[in-house]
Amino acid sequence: MAGTSGAAKGTLEAIEQLRRNDDLGIYKTLLESTKAIPWKINWATKQFDYIGPQIEELLGWPQGSWLGAMDWIERIHPDDREYTANFCIRQSEEGVDHEADYRALKADGSYVWIRDVVHVIRDANGATSDLVGFMFDISERKRMEEELVALNRKLVAWSLQDDLTGAASRRLFDQTMESEWLRGQRSQESLSLVVFDIDNFKQYNDRYGHVQGDQCLARVAGAIRLLPWRSTDLLARYGGDEFVLVLPETALDAAQHLAEKCRAAVARLALPHEGSAHGQVTISMGAAALVPQDDMRYTALIEQADRMLYQAKKNGRNQVCVA
Ligand code: GH3
Ligand code: MG
Repeated sequence: MAGTSGAAKGTLEAIEQLRRNDDLGIYKTLLESTKAIPWKINWATKQFDYIGPQIEELLGWPQGSWLGAMDWIERIHPDDREYTANFCIRQSEEGVDHEADYRALKADGSYVWIRDVVHVIRDANGATSDLVGFMFDISERKRMEEELVALNRKLVAWSLQDDLTGAASRRLFDQTMESEWLRGQRSQESLSLVVFDIDNFKQYNDRYGHVQGDQCLARVAGAIRLLPWRSTDLLARYGGDEFVLVLPETALDAAQHLAEKCRAAVARLALPHEGSAHGQVTISMGAAALVPQDDMRYTALIEQADRMLYQAKKNGRNQVCVA
């Protein structure tokens, strides 16, 4: 009887062993069929105990070529290497679970964005004994993030620049006036503003069409942009065929002089305009200057320059009027 029970015990143990093996088999199958790549490193030797075979499909390096932590470090993009390695070593030494995003080198020389999620296993004394982790391919997510950043930059640029003429946008003009007015209030320096508008532009559109009208706007703005401005001067499209020049720390006579240069630059373009008394495209300009006062708003300066533009139109166009 004793022999029978001993044999039965042995069989049970064998079955239990098989079950355990089978469990391990299931876990192994599960681990190796996920997209995430499992790995384990012995912290004392810094050698890989295990790395999932999927690593070869993702990076191209054979499973067997991942011997130790140095193989991992050497296959990190040079720009990410030092930071990633130092960060992961520090966290591992302190026994802190962590994750790191970095670019991993593929066997073909290209790179893949990886997110490594690391769990630190500690021994009975609390010292780090092993690291286990998963590597995730996050290149698609990174690509989308980069696209979003680029798109955002474009949106900001679009909101600050007028597409057709390359001049600053109305939004940037408003922001600039706001800040220059405040600056002028502090410095008590004169702020000048020039408003100008293409003469008889409705007729230009009627005669030559909207497409050529657009080209005309772009060429007029282009000629003025090319003049030697100071870095603080701003040319903006106010709307339609109307533009503005913000000239900080500029007195009225200097603003008038600059406006004349703009008018001459447009005249030099010699763009034919049959509907105009001058036979070519011209601009009318109004200039005004103010030393910003605390009890005034910058709209006062715009109104003055606008009145001068109206005056220039009334006096026969193709001229500069100053307040
Ligand atoms: P004035 O000399 O008094 O300025 O006469 P004007 O005909 O130029 O009159 P106004 O400045 O009021 O008209 C501007 C015209 O500019 C009206 C509009 O058809 C045209 N316009 C506004 N924006 C654009 C644009 O982006 N492209 C084109 N092609 N035309 C535009
Ligand atoms: Mg006009």
